Amino acid sequence: MNKTEQLELEHKRLESLINSMSDGVISTDEKGNIILYNGAALDVLDINSIQRGFSIESVLKIINDKKEPLDVKRIILESKTQTISRDYKIKYTDGSIISIYLSISPVHLGYGKKGDHGFVLIIRDISREKSLEEERDEFISVISHELRTPIAIAEGAISNAQFIVEKKGDITTIKDALESAHSQAIYLEEMINDLSTLSRAERGVLDTDIEEINARDFVENLLLIYEKDAQSKGLKIHLDIDPSLELLSSVKLYVQEIMQNFITNAIKYTPKGSIIITAKKIDNGVEFAVSDTGIGISKGDQARIFDKFFRSEDYHTREQNGTGLGLHVTRKLALLAKAEITVHSELGKGSTFSIRFPNLK
Ligand code: ADP
Repeated sequence: MNKTEQLELEHKRLESLINSMSDGVISTDEKGNIILYNGAALDVLDINSIQRGFSIESVLKIINDKKEPLDVKRIILESKTQTISRDYKIKYTDGSIISIYLSISPVHLGYGKKGDHGFVLIIRDISREKSLEEERDEFISVISHELRTPIAIAEGAISNAQFIVEKKGDITTIKDALESAHSQAIYLEEMINDLSTLSRAERGVLDTDIEEINARDFVENLLLIYEKDAQSKGLKIHLDIDPSLELLSSVKLYVQEIMQNFITNAIKYTPKGSIIITAKKIDNGVEFAVSDTGIGISKGDQARIFDKFFRSEDYHTREQNGTGLGLHVTRKLALLAKAEITVHSELGKGSTFSIRFPNLK
């Protein structure tokens, strides 16, 4: 093998090596003109080909968090040692934006000429990791914020009760303080239940036992559970049960959790009036609905209420505690139970959440 053949072989080896990498690799000369690239680089840059010799900024157009374009050539040429960033983004021609990992390494290319050098760039799409990170950060911030209020109220109420006990004060004031602390503890418990159901639903390890549910007993039982909460706000709950109702075969745990979410929301977001729970027979299943005469949901918000953490900006909503997790969990459970949810709502008038459960066997 002569020298040229050997060089060619070396070159082919190098090419197959970088082409086998899943990260995008681009190497440039000292002026930032492209010498070499691999297939993964085309994928991450979302282009069909790269012209060798072209300047790097013609293919790699990066932007920052504020979507401002950055001078990529200068960033590269000014790198004296290996620099790694996870904060750059690339905007594709269709307008979508991805987050990238970008490593810039100044290297000596060693093609004969002394002092010859260049840069090797490694580019990876990290949008998924970034969105998980953002979701986790948002999750922690929302949860800690939501936990703080009930804990502060409960703590205040308990210390108030202690103070009154020490001073041998009025027993009804002590009772009120303890009641307030108790209701906050219940709220915390509900929130933790929501979180644990969500985490189990996301990991897909929920109970999946299908049971025969007597829909009439089921709804009457819901009334027993929530009647008191409604009454304490001056609301009345009415039942409207189809006499021809048959047994529903579904996962009771899901049906229960979903209906509880609809009812607790109806109570929470209804300052005055009433709530109607209906159950009617449908083809191969049961449709339940919870209607309220509450604050209602704007058209814009209706599209988002099932998103994780979504809570309306409306001040009536913000007067109530909430995590924005309930309906998100509800939608996940509905999917597992093959049930279909519909929402009808008008601002200031009220909302109806309906759900059609099919028989699962
Ligand atoms: P949370 O009640 O904890 O805020 P949910 O996921 O249960 O979270 O609900 C999301 C949002 O949907 C609520 O913050 C509220 O804006 C809106 N919403 C849900 N149910 C009702 C209802 N019955 N009436 C008015 N708004 C509602």
